[in-house]
Amino acid sequence: MTKVRFAPSPTGELHLGGARTALFNWLFAKHTNGEFFLRIEDTDKERSKQKYVDQICESMRWLGFTWDGPLVFQSEREKEYHGAVQQILKDGNAYRCFCSKGSLDEARKTADREKRIYRYARTCRNLPTSEETERLNKGESFTVRLKVPDGETSYTDLIYGHITVQNTEIDDFIIARSDGSPTFNFVCVLDDNAMGITHVIRGEDHIPNTPKQLIIYTLFGFQKPEFAHLPMILGPDKKRLSKRHGAPGVQKFRDEGYLPDALLNYLGLLGWNPDTEQEIFTREDLVELFDISQVQKKGAVFDEKKLHWVSGQHLFRLSNEQVRDHMTELFPDWGGDSEEPYLMEIIASLKERVKSLAELKSLSRFYFSDPEEFDAKVAKKRWKNDSINKWVNEYVSSIEGIHDWSEDKLELALRQTADKLDLSSGKLIHPVRLGLTGIGFGPSLFELMRILGKKVCIHRLKIALEKLPQNI
Ligand code: GLU
Repeated sequence: MTKVRFAPSPTGELHLGGARTALFNWLFAKHTNGEFFLRIEDTDKERSKQKYVDQICESMRWLGFTWDGPLVFQSEREKEYHGAVQQILKDGNAYRCFCSKGSLDEARKTADREKRIYRYARTCRNLPTSEETERLNKGESFTVRLKVPDGETSYTDLIYGHITVQNTEIDDFIIARSDGSPTFNFVCVLDDNAMGITHVIRGEDHIPNTPKQLIIYTLFGFQKPEFAHLPMILGPDKKRLSKRHGAPGVQKFRDEGYLPDALLNYLGLLGWNPDTEQEIFTREDLVELFDISQVQKKGAVFDEKKLHWVSGQHLFRLSNEQVRDHMTELFPDWGGDSEEPYLMEIIASLKERVKSLAELKSLSRFYFSDPEEFDAKVAKKRWKNDSINKWVNEYVSSIEGIHDWSEDKLELALRQTADKLDLSSGKLIHPVRLGLTGIGFGPSLFELMRILGKKVCIHRLKIALEKLPQNI
């Protein structure tokens, strides 16, 4: 059975890159009927925070990435790590290094000055046992380094293909620091092995770590997993996506009322090309179609506009009832004490025009209260002078007589009024919309008038007639 894991460090909330890695792992597991685990890599005690663990788990739940088994915390596995360090020392595949930080820094500086790549000189690799014992007895501090064997290390990445690294390019890297704490590459292998991980799917920034980890697998005689490194997510400037690009954590998308399935759909397309024209996928479609061999190597550019479009498409495809449920969950006060049929009309009129539930909330404001002010820019353009008052007044008089408050009747009345005044309909539609909603965009004028009802429309237009034009 395939087993994968997502292994975030709780040093910040879950951001888009992490969510995409989690998604591809989750899709891979679901597609192959495998298992998906969540491992919290909290060995950095200074920077790891419980609040981030909570936030990450909450975001994972919101995205619907349920994980199998209990959460795994690296901080709870210190005994195992310590035992493994002792074991690898005993096997002669690692050694204690007593070199001081000062001397190593000096060697690094010299290498920099001479413009060569710094490598640890392996000073302590073959210390006589007597010397090692003596230094230990003296209480000298030490790190533990891996004895990188001769030869080369190669593997076939499921995305990047065959990769070979000469072991001479790999330093005898530290697996345990002087305070005894083990390092990332070491614990990653121990955990992946203990958890029976069959496929390691992670960001391509980990490509340099993989040969080191493979050496550790070999030295312990562990079964090696397959590796798949995911392409970077780039900002519009083609630099690695970061907060600088306004790329927020996943929670912000939730708070702004993006549907989790819409975010999944968008993230799924970041680096994965399902080889079809189709762009809107349900969660189930993604699970069915996902194929790691269709993930590309090239960095994927994060495109906020496209995300908005995908999000709007998902919203549009929901039933009005589903949208109402999402709205009341996210904004419990939305709609105040309005009747259910009224809310349904509003949703039907707006859902194809908005990209998120927050936008729906903001755009629907005029359905619940009279405009407090009129958009100044729109007013300047559409309700310039007193002659507009005359036109709007004429329209008010004509609709006051309408009993059957239908879109057809409202439209007919507007056209007749415009004809009578020798105007194009647009000259009247825009100021009427402004008077009714305070803004210059939204659903069709006659639709919103029908939904608002006769009393509200006439009342609002009369107020607008008193207040506009503003700057005369
Ligand atoms: N904790 C690592 C990170 O956040 C994950 C490493 C891995 O997936 O192997 O980048």
